Amino acid sequence: ATPTALLVGTGRAAQLGVVVKGPEVLESTRRVDTIVLDKTGTVTAGRPSLLAVHTGEGVSVDDVLWLVGGVEEASEHPIAGCLAAAATQRFGELPPVRDFRAVAGSGVQGLVEGFAVAAGKLDLLTGYRMPMSLLRAKNQAEQEGCTAVVAGWDGIVHAVLVVADTVKPTSAKAIEQLRGLGLRPVLLTGDNEAVARSIAREVGIRDVVAGVSPEGKVRVVEDLQARGGVVAMVGDGVNDAAALATADLGLSIGTGTDAAIEAGDLTLVRGDLLAAVDAIRLSRRTLKTIK
Ligand code: ADP
Ligand code: MG
Repeated sequence: ATPTALLVGTGRAAQLGVVVKGPEVLESTRRVDTIVLDKTGTVTAGRPSLLAVHTGEGVSVDDVLWLVGGVEEASEHPIAGCLAAAATQRFGELPPVRDFRAVAGSGVQGLVEGFAVAAGKLDLLTGYRMPMSLLRAKNQAEQEGCTAVVAGWDGIVHAVLVVADTVKPTSAKAIEQLRGLGLRPVLLTGDNEAVARSIAREVGIRDVVAGVSPEGKVRVVEDLQARGGVVAMVGDGVNDAAALATADLGLSIGTGTDAAIEAGDLTLVRGDLLAAVDAIRLSRRTLKTIK
C-alpha cells in the first residue's frame, strides 16, 4: 500500500513538471547525497553552433559539409543536429546515407555517395592518416574550450569541425541550490577534458570526469556508490541511459531521447535543472509529512 502522502507528492510533482514513474521513487530521493550531471543537453543547452571548419589539402568546406551533413542527418545527437542544419542551410537538401552506424558517445559512420564517412571523436578514426595542420586545429579548438569533430573518409582525416555549446541559463543557479540541499555535484561527459573544465567552472562544479564512454558513465556511478554515495544522475542522451538505470535515482531530461526517458525514474518535463531541485525538495517534504 502506498502512503497517501506519497501519492499527493506524486501529484504535486506533476504540477511542478516532474513525472514520477511510481510513488516509491520519491522515497529514494531522500537519501541522495551525490548528483552526477551529464554535460551536453543537461547542463548545456545541447544546441551547439558551428564555429569553424578546418579542411585538409584538396578538400573544400563544401565537400566536408556535404558528406558530413549527409551522415549526421541520420543521428539524433545535438552535435549532429547542428552539423546537419549547417549543411542543409548551404545546400537545401542532403545526400542519402547507407549503412549508417552511430557509436554512442563517440560519433557516426556511413556511406555517402560512395565515400565511407566517419565523424566524431578521434578514436572513432583510429588508423586514419591525419595531417599535422588538422591535428593542430583540433588541439587548439579543445584548448579554447570547444568540441572538435574530426571527420574523414577513405582512411584520411579531411576536416576538423569546431562546435561550441552554451550552458542553460538556469544551470548555475540550480547547481548552487543542489549544493544547498547537501548534494555534491559531479560533471560527467564523453566530451574532452578542456570543454568539461570550462563548463564546470562556469556553473560552479569542482568534480569533473571527462572523455568517458557510455559504459564509463556506468562505472563512474558504480564507483561513487562503492564509496558509500547514494547517487542521483541527470541525463538526456542514449549515452546516459545505462548510467541513469544504474544510479539510485535516475532523472531524465524531458526534451532528451526516448532511451534516456525510459531509463530514468523521474522525467523533468521542463528540461532544466531547477526541476531536479524541485523534485528533491518535494520528496523530502513529502517524506516529512509521512513520518
Ligand atoms: P555528453 O556525455 O557530453 O552528453 P556524448 O557522450 O554524447 O557527450 O558525446 C561525447 C563526444 O562524442 C562528443 O563531445 C563528440 O565529440 C562525440 N560525438 C558523439 N556523437 C557525435 C556525433 N553524432 N557527431 C559527432 N561527434 C559526436
Ligand atoms: Mg547528453
